[in-house]
Amino acid sequence: MTDIPVDHPRHDSLVTRHRIEEGVEKGITSTQGLIAQGRGEAFDYLLGERTIESADAAARAAAAHLLSARHPVLSVNGNVAALCPAEVVALAEAVGADIEVNLFGRTDERVRAIAQHLRDHGASEVKGLTADARIPDLSHERAKVDADGIRDADAVLVPLEDGDRAEALGAMGKVEIVIDLNPLSRSAQVATVPIIDNVVRAIPNIARHARDLRGSDADLDDVIAAFDAEAALADAERAIRSPTGDSGLSPDGARD
Ligand code: ATP
Ligand code: MG
Repeated sequence: MTDIPVDHPRHDSLVTRHRIEEGVEKGITSTQGLIAQGRGEAFDYLLGERTIESADAAARAAAAHLLSARHPVLSVNGNVAALCPAEVVALAEAVGADIEVNLFGRTDERVRAIAQHLRDHGASEVKGLTADARIPDLSHERAKVDADGIRDADAVLVPLEDGDRAEALGAMGKVEIVIDLNPLSRSAQVATVPIIDNVVRAIPNIARHARDLRGSDADLDDVIAAFDAEAALADAERAIRSPTGDSGLSPDGARD
């Protein structure tokens, strides 16, 4: 990977971009994943490349949902696998969740490459290879899931999910946690818990909240009930629209 000086003002964003490039080279990330990354970068830039308060509250609610679920599953696609594989494994451990590879543009080769990449980063079991069940009301390839994975889950974390599938999963009555930098994205709009943040910050943040909640006597149902999805989406949109507000940008909106 190209060396990026640690004092570069946009260091984290550039490191992230290189991880996606490497993901494409390794056959983990699709070329469409590059476009999704570009869209994400634009929103992250406007958010000030930081976790806003409402996204932190969403991450805490997500942790409470995952901890109280009967069968939580973390869905992993090519971008998430390239960006934060070890963090996904750590989150699965912190909340006792399964990990399932689930791709919009599914090929068995890419599912296998991602599963291996996750095992290289400490995952003991990775689902998604069986693909013996379907999400109702979606066309064939996009509908494939594991019967003992996402199909059976009562809570799913779907970072960067496509809007259609997010809607179909929600219609199955699952608690759906979406991580997406765009608060106007359909995926974010249909989520039980939308986390408007970069996956590289949000996934370790959910794990941190999960460890914190497990070590405290906080009531998980109270944490869940206190979270307001619509207010969180509105807050993120406000942060994006007003650079002097909660977005972390300097008063003239410039970053570099
Ligand atoms: P829909 O509107 O139906 O939800 P979409 O048009 O948003 O679908 P994509 O083009 O796949 O579908 O969008 C990818 C989404 O993922 C974008 O909203 C983008 O902001 C988000 N995204 C990309 N990279 C990241 C990241 N690292 N962290 C969080 N979100 C990201
Ligand atoms: Mg979307």
